[in-house]
Amino acid sequence: MSRRIQLLPEQLVNQIAAGEVVERPAAAVKELLENSLDAGARRIDLELEQGGLSLIRVRDDGQGIPRGELALALQRHATSKIGSLEDLERVSSLGFRGEALPSLLSVSRLSLSSRTAGEDHGWKVGGDGALDGKPPEPVPHPPGTTIEARDLFFNTPARRKFLRAESTEFRYIDQAVRRLALARYDVGFVLRHNGRRGLELPAADSDAAREQRLAAVTDEAFLANAVTLDETRNGLRLWGWIALPSFSRGAADLQYLYVNGRAVKDKLLGHALRRAYADALHGSRYPAYVLYLELDPSRVDANVHPAKTEVRFRDSARVHDFLFGAVHQALRNVRPDPGHHHRVEFAPGPDQGPLTGFPPAAYSSQPQGALRYGAPASAGNLRIAERWAPMPAGTPLVAEGVMGRALAQLGSIYILAQARDGLILVDMHAAHERVLYERFKRALSGSGIATQALLVPVAVDLSEDEADEAEKQRERLRAYGVEIDRSGPAEITVRAVPALLARVDVAALLQGLLRDAADDDSRSHFGEVVDAQERVLANMACRAAVRAGRVLTLAEMDALLRDMEQTELAGQCNHGRPTWVHFSTDELDRLFLRGR
Ligand code: ADP
Ligand code: MG
Repeated sequence: MSRRIQLLPEQLVNQIAAGEVVERPAAAVKELLENSLDAGARRIDLELEQGGLSLIRVRDDGQGIPRGELALALQRHATSKIGSLEDLERVSSLGFRGEALPSLLSVSRLSLSSRTAGEDHGWKVGGDGALDGKPPEPVPHPPGTTIEARDLFFNTPARRKFLRAESTEFRYIDQAVRRLALARYDVGFVLRHNGRRGLELPAADSDAAREQRLAAVTDEAFLANAVTLDETRNGLRLWGWIALPSFSRGAADLQYLYVNGRAVKDKLLGHALRRAYADALHGSRYPAYVLYLELDPSRVDANVHPAKTEVRFRDSARVHDFLFGAVHQALRNVRPDPGHHHRVEFAPGPDQGPLTGFPPAAYSSQPQGALRYGAPASAGNLRIAERWAPMPAGTPLVAEGVMGRALAQLGSIYILAQARDGLILVDMHAAHERVLYERFKRALSGSGIATQALLVPVAVDLSEDEADEAEKQRERLRAYGVEIDRSGPAEITVRAVPALLARVDVAALLQGLLRDAADDDSRSHFGEVVDAQERVLANMACRAAVRAGRVLTLAEMDALLRDMEQTELAGQCNHGRPTWVHFSTDELDRLFLRGR
């Protein structure tokens, strides 16, 4: 078994590195595109055959490589991007390890052609698996560089076996190109696969053009449901687009995150973003965002992994909190904005209803001052019953608030309101739930959740373990407005409940609370105690919210509309579903083909 220790031959070393650096066609494409970007390209053409397996060709109009350096570019640890440890510590180029080209050469038939500005033709070098050793050959070539890699993994069959179908590999490549295209709006990208045109993204130099690229890379719906943010604090800047929670996804497929222009998949940052959405998104849904984090390069280490998709921060807790805070606040600043019309889409087919897909995209996210209505700030945690006072006689029946004036209840589920412009439909349970949730949160961090003693304390049968747990959680339950005593080995007596929940099933409330609060302390990352707390409050809000089926008076409906105007994140319920939709008069006119 045992052999003598020996240095590995260079090609084998490169093939080993290739396992990490260019483990699949998409990774090779990413490395090549990054090289083009580092070379200052303004336009990059990518040509593929069979998902990149038989051909990857990248052509750019960057600065090119001088004849004398062509062979060097294909050698291991050869780079023009850093020259010292200090450079590495503040690296601003995408590449710096000098590994991509030699790795790719070691597992393909590769040619590198390039022409610098001063020359009138290009030069070409290459080889199959290793440089063929011939001197550079003159070739016609515009200024810039072309790299062609054929028959990827032709000499490493084991690696080839790990690849997936051509279409799958192509999809990975397409995603890699999209990811890079959102890092550099100023560069044009053109993609062809098997001779057919794919993604075509012209260089974007205006806000409108950038939004167009964003829509082309993600989709129109993302843009229509996203708000912009731009926050700077302590040398950290975060800007970009975040989708409203109501535009959540079933997979993490619309999450673009860049650190100093480099696309990263970072656990810490991902966690901060998940948390920022947590109280507006069901646990199984994924938020959508395109975000750019910028900070001094010396505060982040990009040299963590050969593929450079992970980063490490010098002060990671601060970065985490900044990201969480900025996104969380931006989501909370979203308010109904009557000046901004969302789109109503007409269903194309004859067998569908007249209207589909109208997320309430009429939002703006601006720090304060964005509220157009002049209603007084809410007086903290007033009980909803007190606020649902009957409308004083003589109240004008014109729509005045942003959410309008209630006209009727539809099917005991929806509130129909007349707004200043058009009409509004509100899902009353979802909306009320959100209002109460925010109220519970404010109460918990302020004067506490108002409790009401039960006239007749309720004994709840539990298992002995549950009763032990309840006893352990006694103080925490009290904070949530539930007062208990141990009244037997497997029995807990509830003496008081949150005032808003005075009429709910006490046993179910207690059991729910114990479940929700249970893993308070069991996890160990950032902010988990808050996670459990939010879960508890969200469930309490759901229990306390008015049930579908209950008949409300107009005054009650109006009170809810006014509450919504005062509530952060009123646009979606705690599970991320929309709570209301708005039809402007224009949209109603369109529906009835008026004025055409
Ligand atoms: P790295 O990008 O880490 O420096 P690579 O192996 O990817 O390592 O590339 C090696 C070198 O070849 C680069 O440092 C750069 O000088 C040169 N190079 C590669 N691709 C291009 C290109 N498209 N245009 C100009 N120079 C390039
Ligand atoms: Mg590189």
